Amino acid sequence: MLDIKFIKTGNPKPIPGPENPLVFGTIFTDHMFVMDYTEGKGWHDPRIEPYGPISLEPAAMVFHYGQEMFEGLKAYKTEDGRILMFRPDKNIERANNSNRRLMIPEIPEEDFLQAMKELVRIEQAWIPTKEGTSLYIRPFVIATDPFLGVRPSFTYKFMIILSPVGAYYPEGLDPVKIWIEDEYVRAVRGGIGEAKTGGNYVASLAAQMKAHEEGYSQVLWLDGVERKYIEEVGAMNIFFKINGTVVTPQLNGSILPGVTRRTCVELCKAWGLPVEERKVSVQELEEAARTGALEEVWGSGTAAVISPVGHLRYEDEVFQIGDGGIGELSQKLYDTVTGIQLGKIEDTFGWTVEVK
Ligand SMILES: *Cc1c(COP(=O)(O)O)cnc(C)c1O
Repeated sequence: MLDIKFIKTGNPKPIPGPENPLVFGTIFTDHMFVMDYTEGKGWHDPRIEPYGPISLEPAAMVFHYGQEMFEGLKAYKTEDGRILMFRPDKNIERANNSNRRLMIPEIPEEDFLQAMKELVRIEQAWIPTKEGTSLYIRPFVIATDPFLGVRPSFTYKFMIILSPVGAYYPEGLDPVKIWIEDEYVRAVRGGIGEAKTGGNYVASLAAQMKAHEEGYSQVLWLDGVERKYIEEVGAMNIFFKINGTVVTPQLNGSILPGVTRRTCVELCKAWGLPVEERKVSVQELEEAARTGALEEVWGSGTAAVISPVGHLRYEDEVFQIGDGGIGELSQKLYDTVTGIQLGKIEDTFGWTVEVK
């Protein structure tokens, strides 16, 4: 058990009311969790203190070589007033997998969970309750040694900040248009694609801007070697329903192993649907779209939960999916996952963790 010191803000901010649209990632709560790491001493000085700027040396290694890890998950308030987190154990496990890949010291799982729970408990008045809203939890670690040489840092900061977020689809699920990128790549096997780290995002910006200019909201990445096989979307994993079978690219080392991806796979299997985690080529999709076998496409991620895809663009071709509307299975997955997250559907899988 961590002995977390609490330093209460003397200057609380107004909590946004139900009329606030809560644009993603723009409002932060009154407090944040901070814990330091020093080589030889381990993680120390856990505290919850007023949210605000931190002081770092300009030479801090994170600014120069990007040694950092982040996570993202949500807390929800149920109709009967309980606070639930969704599969936080999976985020903690993934955080430590990322940490190992990035040479960042691991964080004991129970300490990680305790820190998130205590912060969410203190900030519970900030959890919005309107349909589709939640409190986004952003844990992250940064390397803080003031040193311009290249090596793993000896000191780190682990922090958790919270942000109330609005419904991803204020008017209900809405299919998105996706751009299949054939020039830039996001990650390669053996690289850092399966770690949740800022470097993967900076690698994605140029293609994202290109897609936006073409009128597409998201990029679908191909494998970094042959640019032939589907990997994932910007911050989502991708699923296809082809001739009644649910297909998603297998985790191959360059794809981020999403918690929502895992949830979709487990739910579809529980419903008795055939599920295949394997390589999926653009050519296969092209063919499936042409013959009408491509029944549904959706993205999965914490932010949107399920994001139906209306059409895919590859070079000069457009693959129309179904009738361009929301697929039946996409809708069922969305309703089930959000229903469990909000405590409206019984959680027979034991996925939710109550913050008391
Ligand atoms: C976080 C993330 C996802 C989705 O993971 P979830 O755990 O489902 O939120 C997918 N791809 C990338 C690149 C990500 O960073």
